Amino acid sequence: MKIVLASNNAGKLAELQAMLAPLGMNLLRQADLGIGEAEEPFRTFVENALAKARHAAAASGLPALADDAGLCVDAFGGLPGVDTAYYATQFGYEKGDANNVRALLEQMQHIDQRRAAMVSTLVALRSADDPEPLIAVGRVVGEIARERRGSGGFGFDPVMFIPEFGQTFAELPPDVKNAHSHRGRAAAQMVQLMRERWL
Ligand code: IMP
Repeated sequence: MKIVLASNNAGKLAELQAMLAPLGMNLLRQADLGIGEAEEPFRTFVENALAKARHAAAASGLPALADDAGLCVDAFGGLPGVDTAYYATQFGYEKGDANNVRALLEQMQHIDQRRAAMVSTLVALRSADDPEPLIAVGRVVGEIARERRGSGGFGFDPVMFIPEFGQTFAELPPDVKNAHSHRGRAAAQMVQLMRERWL
């Protein structure tokens, strides 16, 4: 079965392709089919992922898979959430990982409740009209460290301290991080749902 990935991120394509291969699914990048990016106007991950999957399914006539992800900080009522990639720009910094971490450390300087989750939501549709989307949510819970530690990973990894390991994601070997990441957990659930419902 062919399925369109509503993302142009090469890393995500490789990761998801490897997970879907045992199901006999062939993941295609929407850009390679001449499909542009969808708008993401909503305030929840699931709404944005659904909008992206529906856009890709409508434009391609194929089943589609989309993801939306971000950081949810308890002390901020779950924000920045869908605005995570642009978090730094709320405080006058340029968009980017280093500025995101800097802005987060500044905003949490006087906050002791530091629990936060990285969340990944995957949505899959058989067609643009599919009334029953498959929805998989993966989360990993940690604490925002008071300073950066480690040089691996990307994004918020240097301040995402995982109590279970006593280290930040940036200090852990990539295979350990990936085995416990929000993305890996969501993808494993999605594979299970596809197996049960689509095959
Ligand atoms: P995306 O939608 O997966 O590209 O991620 C949205 C935001 O979350 C971006 O700012 C990423 O840097 C950040 N992010 C996503 N995955 C991770 C991760 O595994 N570790 C740290 N930050 C991440």
